[in-house]
Amino acid sequence: MPPNPASVDAPVSVLDNLRWQQLESRLPGASFVYGVTTTGVVCSPGCPSRLPRRENVRFYEDIRGALQAGFRPCKRCRPLDKVGTDLGELLARVCRNLEGYVVSGADAAIADVASDADMAEATLLRHFRSVTGLTPTEYLAAIRQCRLYPALAKQGSVLQAATEAGYGSASHFYQDAPRLTGMPPAKHRKGGKGEQLTFALASTELGELAVAASSQGVCWIALGEDPGVLLDEFQDHFRHATLLPPNDAFNQQIAAVCQLVQHPEQPVTLPLDIRGTVFQRQVWQALQAIPVGMTLDYQQLAERIGRPTAARAVARACASNVLAVAVPCHRIIRRDGGLSGYRWGVERKAWLLAREKAASEGN
Ligand SMILES: [Zn+2]
Repeated sequence: MPPNPASVDAPVSVLDNLRWQQLESRLPGASFVYGVTTTGVVCSPGCPSRLPRRENVRFYEDIRGALQAGFRPCKRCRPLDKVGTDLGELLARVCRNLEGYVVSGADAAIADVASDADMAEATLLRHFRSVTGLTPTEYLAAIRQCRLYPALAKQGSVLQAATEAGYGSASHFYQDAPRLTGMPPAKHRKGGKGEQLTFALASTELGELAVAASSQGVCWIALGEDPGVLLDEFQDHFRHATLLPPNDAFNQQIAAVCQLVQHPEQPVTLPLDIRGTVFQRQVWQALQAIPVGMTLDYQQLAERIGRPTAARAVARACASNVLAVAVPCHRIIRRDGGLSGYRWGVERKAWLLAREKAASEGN
């Protein structure tokens, strides 16, 4: 995965601070380049453009890293010229052409881009790769991601942001950015107001997976068939939250959630940000205490938390769980052994229980 241009919560390194000082004072001779997340442009220090705000600047060792992150070369300071010869100018034009496709939402025709640059497609591919480390198609995907984050930072829906970023359809969006978007920390206000979370989609054996995390831990795990629907649900639930792009820590959490839903028999080691009323949390804790391979009904669960007459409220609390598998509400079945419902699909529930049963029997 290319480095993320807008890792808002990435640790600020000492080196980056020095680079920023260098930028601010417009000291010549700097060897790095910088991307501006609000414009999607990569510049060389000394660019005559207005100095961007610190939080919108991402530093890169060289132009290659910036291009891989989806930035396009600035027309004013022409950071690609350092590549040497005419190639820099030519590739800058290729980058702009490719970006044009993203902006217009049209399918990119690499052959046209090559002919505009007066190169055979294979030559273009070779040159482009030698400078950027990417194929034009990979660069297109990087531009879309790069454009997505500022779009997400505005209000609007995730899908709207995706469209704005040049994703023609939700599936395209999904394909390019399986480890997408995000919103941090637990203010616990309605609709996630004032909070920032990171959100991503992934494909698993159990279907499509949506995960969101705050700075406290994973706060949303949902399963389904349609990534667009998962996005909508997430958006509905956290409509006032701000999305942050994924960082390394989040990517690790995603990997751990994928692992968890495919191996529900394994212990949950993820940090969870569990939000709910005292009662709900009590119920969810009781769910987490059900051993792998065991199932209970609502009544039994109600008894476990010392509220034997509250089976219906217990059922409601189970139904409000937003952490699929991590809070194992799938271990609740009907008294007669029937599976009863499951927010994320009864088939998935059956699959999870079968997997846990097999594991607990030592298979
Ligand atoms: Zn510039």
